Amino acid sequence: QPFDLVKLAEEITEEMQMIAKQDQNIIYQHTGLESMVLLDQNLLKNCMINLINNAIKYSGENTFIEFNTEINEHQCLVTLKDNGIGIPDTDQRHLFQPFFRAHNTGNIPGTGLGLNIVLRYVGLMNGEVQFESKINEGTKFTLSFNK
Ligand code: ATP
Ligand code: MG
Repeated sequence: QPFDLVKLAEEITEEMQMIAKQDQNIIYQHTGLESMVLLDQNLLKNCMINLINNAIKYSGENTFIEFNTEINEHQCLVTLKDNGIGIPDTDQRHLFQPFFRAHNTGNIPGTGLGLNIVLRYVGLMNGEVQFESKINEGTKFTLSFNK
């Protein structure tokens, strides 16, 4: 059944802001007049939390994390953009493999499962995951779902 995407995203923003680093600001914005979507709320919530967790973990203090949702006549989009460590080019094609971790993660903890889960959950909702990343500049993940 349909649920309020904006309400969900606002709740998650508030929760995740509490575990963000010092002066890491999660800025949430929605584009579009509509806010109801027909997706699995629990799966989408889990995806958003995974992506925000990564944005927090892989970027430093005093940075912005941009969290956006958009509903237009064709699609629903969820994007997360950070100004963190980025993902090395040669690691990008392995990113969704279970237990894969990029070579620049250093001593940042993780198991390498989060993105594989995101990919599978988005697949269950017939959506797509895309990303763009530049090492030492940042990363942007986009989830898209056709209406
Ligand atoms: P966990 O299972 O706890 O999520 P993880 O964060 O290492 O562990 P994934 O979320 O699957 O695993 O991410 C896989 C790898 O992709 C990470 O180890 C990291 O190298 C890279 N990565 C993911 N998101 C980002 C990001 N926002 N910025 C930089 N690197 C990222
Ligand atoms: Mg992760």
